Order: sequence, then structure tokens, then C-alpha cells
Amino acid sequence: MGKIINGKQIADEIKEELKEKVKKLQEKEIEPTLAVILVGEDPASQIYVSNKKKACEYVGMRSLSYELPEDTREDTLLSLIKELNNREDVHGILVQLPLPSHIEEEKILMMIAPEKDVDGFHPMNVGALSIGKKAFLPCTAAGIIELLKRSNLSIEGKHCVVIGRSNIVGKPVSMLLLRENGTVTMCHSRTTNLKELCQQGDIIVAALGKPNFVTADMIKHGAVLIDVGINRLENGKVCGDIDFEGCKEKAGAITPVPRGVGPMTIAMLLYNCIQGAEQGEE
Ligand code: NAD
Repeated sequence: MGKIINGKQIADEIKEELKEKVKKLQEKEIEPTLAVILVGEDPASQIYVSNKKKACEYVGMRSLSYELPEDTREDTLLSLIKELNNREDVHGILVQLPLPSHIEEEKILMMIAPEKDVDGFHPMNVGALSIGKKAFLPCTAAGIIELLKRSNLSIEGKHCVVIGRSNIVGKPVSMLLLRENGTVTMCHSRTTNLKELCQQGDIIVAALGKPNFVTADMIKHGAVLIDVGINRLENGKVCGDIDFEGCKEKAGAITPVPRGVGPMTIAMLLYNCIQGAEQGEE
């Protein structure tokens, strides 16, 4: 049976390290602060935001919460971001997505100052990532790399097959795997020979949002399987994009869902925000 990668445990280790960083900053009278903006009452978003706030609290960081009604005007949101951009005591700004349909998401993300864009979605940070410059890295993608490194699973020279090409996960994780000297194949909904490509993967990252999509016949013996998917089934249970039970014997290592990639995303968000605060002291 393959090694089960315990994302929760690794995220907890990172959070302990971050607690120390927060203490050091506080000794210099810097209070690392994340501003979290939620528009509307989407229940999933409310849970995500609440988890992010709890995680800030856990490592001793300050979080500022802006919970705005569903009918908030775009210009009101833009003014709030502008105000937060100018506040020296705010190091990270996060706008929980998705936004209500009357608000243009791209316009909002563009307004966040790149040096406070702890989600790493601003085109400046996306561009910096693609040319290998220092930038805020999108949290899920950065979390996956950290998960592999801390599990002593090397990326260099490995064939990494990424399923999904979203701006949030698929594209940035592909760029980061490339940066770590992996050989990357990006697959998506129009890929015609997905099964054959997956069968060649030393590392497979599944980020397509389809329950139990990757099955044992699609992987090679010893493959490292990273499951990004969060799918809620009709029975209320959550499962990933990889058939965990079916693949765990054949895989070399595999992340479960939950307690795999998910907790890493939040840990990397905190990491980014603290890094922002540290940069402020330079
Ligand atoms: P998305 O819907 O934006 O993108 C899905 C991608 O998968 C697309 O690029 C599409 O081309 C590809 N795809 C869809 N069907 C496919 C198929 N049959 N074969 C090959 N490719 C296919 O999704 P996203 O935002 O990237 O999220 C993907 C999944 O990851 C979702 O389940 C989401 O909930 C989850 N997610 C988890 C975390 C976390 O912290 N663990 C963070 C973000 C997203």
C-alpha cells in the first residue's frame, strides 16, 4: 500500500513555524494582518472565510473581516480595496470568490495591490511566477509543492501530469512543478488521450472537480497522486477527484480528501500574509 500523505499534519507543522514568525514580528511591533472580504451569503464561502479567520487566530495573526451584503455595488467594493491598499497596518487582502454576478471579478482582483495580493491572483504575481521572479504564489499550488517537499517526494526529472488548467490551481501548479524541474503535461477537458498520459505520470495532480475521476487503471505502479478536488456527494460526504480506495494500493503515495491538499491551502495563505508583513519591515 502507498504512503498516505497527511496534509493536515504537515499544515499543522507549518502553522507552528508561522507562530514563531508572528512572535518575532510582534517583538518588532508589527502585527501581521489579513483583511478578508466576503460579499453575499454563499454558505460554502462563509465556511471558507470562517476557517481562514480561525487559522489566523491560531497562529496569532490579526484578521479584519468585511462581510458585505449580496447587493453591494462594485464601486463600493473597489473603494474598500483601495482603502485597504493604503493602510500600512494591513499586509494581505483576500476577496473570497466567487463574487455575485453583477461584480466583475477581474476588475476586483486587479484592484488589489500586488504586494498585498496574498492569493497570488493579480496579473503581476501571475506574470512574475511564469518568468520565475519572486511573487506571491497561489496558495493551493504552493501548498502542493510544499506537501511533496516535506514528504521527501522529489519533483526533479519526474513526469508530472496535471489534470485541469484553471487559473486558480491547474496553471499555477504546472508552473511551479516546472520551476522544480519536473517535466509537465497539462491536461484539460479537450485532451483526447488522458488515460495514456496519466499512465505515464510519476506524479499526477488531479484538479478537475469530478468525483473519483482518476481510477486505478489510469495510473502506473508507484505513482504519486495529489488530489485537489473537493466534491460534495448527494449523501453529504466529501470526496476528491481520485478514487482513493481504488488507487491507494497501486500508488506510491496519495493524498486523502479531506485532510490532504485542503489544509495546506490555508497554511500557505497565512505564510503569504506573514511574508508580506516581513517584507514591510525591510
Ligand atoms: P475549474 O472548474 O475552474 O477547472 C476545472 C478544470 O478541469 C478545467 O481546466 C477543465 O478543462 C478541466 N476538466 C474538466 N473536466 C475534465 C475532464 N473530464 N478531463 C480533463 N480535464 C477536465 O476548477 P478549479 O477551480 O481548478 O477546481 C478544481 C477542483 O479543485 C474543484 O473540485 C475544487 O473544489 C477544488 N479546489 C480545491 C482547493 C483546495 O484547497 N483543496 C482549492 C481550489 C479548488
